[in-house]
Amino acid sequence: MASTQPAFGGMFRQLIELGVIEINTEPLDDLIERRLKEFWENTSCPRCGHQHLMTSETRDRVRCRECNFNPVYTYGTPFHEKHLSCGEVLLAFLLYADTLLSINQIVPLLGRTYKTVHTAIRDVEAAIQRGFPVVWELLDQTIDGPTQVDESGRVCSGYKGQEPPRNSRSRGGSSRSGRSRWRGRHGDQLTLVAACRDSLRVIRGQRGIDYSGDLNPVVQEAEDLSQPLGEVWTDGLQAYREMERDHRTVIHKEWYVSADGVHINQAECLFSLIQPWLRKFRGLSKQGLEQAAHTFGIVRSLTLAGESVDSAIDCLVIGSFHSST
Ligand SMILES: [Zn+2]
Repeated sequence: MASTQPAFGGMFRQLIELGVIEINTEPLDDLIERRLKEFWENTSCPRCGHQHLMTSETRDRVRCRECNFNPVYTYGTPFHEKHLSCGEVLLAFLLYADTLLSINQIVPLLGRTYKTVHTAIRDVEAAIQRGFPVVWELLDQTIDGPTQVDESGRVCSGYKGQEPPRNSRSRGGSSRSGRSRWRGRHGDQLTLVAACRDSLRVIRGQRGIDYSGDLNPVVQEAEDLSQPLGEVWTDGLQAYREMERDHRTVIHKEWYVSADGVHINQAECLFSLIQPWLRKFRGLSKQGLEQAAHTFGIVRSLTLAGESVDSAIDCLVIGSFHSST
């Protein structure tokens, strides 16, 4: 993990080493413990399948009255055997997903190895992605209005050892006049496609330089998360490609084309937010970058829906229990 730039300035790093920046995750540890135990009480035993699991406020172990299976309450979740407390695991993820700090910068704050923090973040991320659709559907909200779809004005890249391109954004021009590519030795390149509807934000990476302009996967995902879909708004260029595509596969009949693209400003706004955030992933693999972009959409959706850390915990817990069955 050699980095040419220090994660923090020297003085701030000294404060970390002096122990000035103390992190206390106890309230978060308690919150997660309570939530996990609630889920155990309402789920079936992973060993015998009976729904007779008992928890205790004072004990770390859950017990099945049927088969006596007694795992710790973190069993089967990303919190299990992490060398980090539950709260630290979630904190690592939230620092990664909800701030501009890179994993290299989060590591000294938590005082653990890079591998420990990285594994925790990736495990939480995978569980949250699995749990999000369930939690999103349970939220008390109505998603309506048109769905705005757009592709990112530049190709992000998991390149190594080079500076990102200057942001030569030309004012008043079209959304893609400032397009530039991050090129690296490994040539990992990615275009982002986003769908925005109400508080919902879906972001997916499209691999490769020969980007086909396929907006359907994100539209499909937006539909799954907010049915029925209704109108899809995009700008002229994509819609043209889409019409060509539609000759072969008619998926969405209601795509609406705006000549000047003014109706996709939600999507353009989303890209302006995600780009500084993605800059911290220089050197990340394509897969990692795709996953990170998708995570950004989930965290942004929960934020716009007025949701809190509790919903993130719910996504994580539901996602964990989904994978174990
Ligand atoms: Zn059992």
